[in-house]
Amino acid sequence: MNEQAPRPQVFGNRFADAVGPGDIRASYDLCSCFDYAHVQVPARQVRFHPERQDTSAPGWLHMLALIDDAAADGREVFRPLVEMSPEERRQVITLPPSVGRLTAVKHLVLYRSNLVRLPPEIGAMASLEVFEPYTSQRLHWFPYELTRCGNLKSSTVSTRLIFGNIKYRPPFPALMQGPLPPGSPDPGLWGPDSVTSCSVCGGPITEWGVRQAWLSARVATDVLPLLVNACSDACVGALPPGAEGHVRVPHSGGLGVVQPEARDAPRPR
Ligand SMILES: [Zn+2]
Ligand SMILES: [Zn+2]
Repeated sequence: MNEQAPRPQVFGNRFADAVGPGDIRASYDLCSCFDYAHVQVPARQVRFHPERQDTSAPGWLHMLALIDDAAADGREVFRPLVEMSPEERRQVITLPPSVGRLTAVKHLVLYRSNLVRLPPEIGAMASLEVFEPYTSQRLHWFPYELTRCGNLKSSTVSTRLIFGNIKYRPPFPALMQGPLPPGSPDPGLWGPDSVTSCSVCGGPITEWGVRQAWLSARVATDVLPLLVNACSDACVGALPPGAEGHVRVPHSGGLGVVQPEARDAPRPR
């Protein structure tokens, strides 16, 4: 459940008449991170989605099984959500690390998912060419490890729903640095729910901790806000420049970051 958005959960066909087939509405939660109907100037602070994956949910278990099947048969197109019920789809808010075993998959379809984050292991999908999380309304950022998918050439991301997008320039959540807490990091504070290795060098995260950074970089078709979990300042320093038309250097997020002017947002008078 989305703890940030004080909206009731919507079950089943409750609003079926208003929005069409109830099965679609039952498959995702609402998100109010970017309230473009009431764009605020100056922008308000944004946070990461704090939800944690329920690893006992039938939808999660189904996803694990679908990944096992796809890894075993070496398929090139993976569309797990179309094989799930709407209720199951809603229960999947991230992908399991085992997605990194899908090294034969060229085309990953996550259309209209309920995802709020993706794991760094997606960077191990070495054959990935087409990445389609389109209309995943709660997916506002991506792991920097996505840049390791060297064959990626096409993406369809709902770009007005990502941090720092060129049309509205919503802010980026403020990032953390320092030692990781014991156990799993709080995804509402850190973004990811697991940090095991450096996004840049792949080395271990030492007791010194993590240095997080945002980088807006072109990945396939789109410029995406990429979250870097680095082992050191040196690894942050080794990052490439940000994409043209975006903040050109890695930054730590928060309202202090000055972005280029929004293309469509209203301006203060
Ligand atoms: Zn959101
Ligand atoms: Zn490193």
